[in-house]
Amino acid sequence: MAASPTPPAWNRETEPFVELISAEAISRRVAELGATITAEYRALGSTGEDVVVLGVLKGSVIFLSDLVRHISLPLTMDFIGVASYGDATVSSGVVQITQDLTKPIEGKHVLLVEDIVDTGHTVHYLLENLGTRKPASLKLCSLLHKPDRAEREVHIDHLGFTIPNKFVVGYGLDVAQRYRNLPYIGYVAQP
Ligand code: 5GP
Repeated sequence: MAASPTPPAWNRETEPFVELISAEAISRRVAELGATITAEYRALGSTGEDVVVLGVLKGSVIFLSDLVRHISLPLTMDFIGVASYGDATVSSGVVQITQDLTKPIEGKHVLLVEDIVDTGHTVHYLLENLGTRKPASLKLCSLLHKPDRAEREVHIDHLGFTIPNKFVVGYGLDVAQRYRNLPYIGYVAQP
């Protein structure tokens, strides 16, 4: 079978972003997270059949897709959609579920996967909400954390990278719904 073609390189000359975390660094960290998560569920005595990896739409989708391929357990996946009132840069702290899970999580080991913990309002709300549904365990895995912006204390069980207070884009994170498919994480360059 022919090897899959290499995706085209993005044009670094014309992109308005400064690279913060390279595609290679992301890939290495995601593999480490997957190995740690696998070991943790095995240590809990789980065979993996009761593990649900739960992605928050849409920002976590690319991270989740790579992460689950590094978790060697026969897990299931589900997704939850949220809207937070306020614009992209100012969170109001009011979070609403726009798309709920397709199955109950009672008795399951749930791993909530987020792209970024910024003010912390979204995951704080989700962890509280999911906690009421009686999962066997509930853990949080976030690719990024921006501690400078924290307004809610949130315990991140598995964290990819701590980043400075910049609006980042790529690897699932958007600017006005675009650039989620950028293979690295960058921030908008100031003119
Ligand atoms: P929080 O509720 O923690 O303030 O924010 C959570 C959501 O805000 C994230 O899931 C993400 O969708 C969005 N967000 C926060 N910071 C950034 C950022 O730097 N870049 C992008 N693209 N989205 C962000």
